[in-house]
Amino acid sequence: MSKETVIDLRSDTVTLPNREMRQAMLSAELGDDVIDVDPTVERLQRVIAERLGHEAAIFMPSGTMTNQVGLRLHCRPGDEFLCEERCHIFNFEQGAFAQLSGLVARTIPTETALLQLSDVQSLIRPPSEHMTRTRLLCLENTHNLGGGRIHPLETVQELCQWAKQNGLATHLDGARLFNAVVATGIEASRWGSLFDSVSVCFSKGLGAPVGSALCGSRDLIDEARFHRKLFGGAMRQSGVLAAAALYALEHQVDRLEEDHRHAKILADGVLRSESLTLDPSAVDSNIVIFKVDPNWGTAPEFVKALADRDVRMMPFSRHHVRAVTHMHVDEPMAKHAAAVVEAVAAWDA
Ligand SMILES: *Cc1c(COP(=O)(O)O)cnc(C)c1O
Repeated sequence: MSKETVIDLRSDTVTLPNREMRQAMLSAELGDDVIDVDPTVERLQRVIAERLGHEAAIFMPSGTMTNQVGLRLHCRPGDEFLCEERCHIFNFEQGAFAQLSGLVARTIPTETALLQLSDVQSLIRPPSEHMTRTRLLCLENTHNLGGGRIHPLETVQELCQWAKQNGLATHLDGARLFNAVVATGIEASRWGSLFDSVSVCFSKGLGAPVGSALCGSRDLIDEARFHRKLFGGAMRQSGVLAAAALYALEHQVDRLEEDHRHAKILADGVLRSESLTLDPSAVDSNIVIFKVDPNWGTAPEFVKALADRDVRMMPFSRHHVRAVTHMHVDEPMAKHAAAVVEAVAAWDA
């Protein structure tokens, strides 16, 4: 590893398309996907729907859009959805569910960021003209702010079964679902088919430049197309982008396992540092979140000190730092970053 290399662990969205992916984009068969179809987009939609155990899928420019279209499909203005307090839909999408669809979020605090049945069981509001209607349960897997934790399949099954029995729709923010798939060895379709709708991102660890898909029943996805247009997400020769996503699905899923190994190397560096605490204490996938002891300083100060040594991470709160591993970080880089974390943490503040 050369001295000048910057190790960028701010996010797995910093990944760039390689030569083969660019070649796939260059040679994609294209059409106008709004007035009729783009054959490459259509192929991607078929492939991802089948992978996730659903009838149909629709390609959109971002995970924010697939989530927001998903929420809108299941709810009417004034309806309420249940979600964990630290979820992306509530924290990082500008409250779009309220701005665009008039929805109310009922956020549920948890210790681990992973909802349990007992957290939600009493939360469905009875029919009453004084109250909003509880319509939908949203889960996130892996959980981003939860430090890449994997929501165990049995818990997800219990929650989805409970939701169905009680007339709630279910939506999965699976921006990093393939990380959970690779880490657990449980097929994507087993996770995906538990939900009425599933959003997955191609632009995170999978390494495509742009794009997400929303999967569901044929009827639901036909309706989603209508809302995608309203949100400005109807795209023309988007097969250029779909080709990259198809390449990613074919060639860049299994390698996520390396990212998980590298995240554990980083976590070991954190664990060796007295002024840092791994938070959560386990690393399930490609995200490492740790707390900086206030006696050392703040998270932004810690991140600045790392950046001065060519390791980039993201401050996630005043005291928390996030690092995400991805395909441009190999094992020597992960080891070097862990050593830099340890060295900086050992400074006498
Ligand atoms: C990145 C991400 C999204 C979608 O983000 P976009 O930047 O809009 O594609 C949604 N949920 C989670 C958990 C994410 O990490």
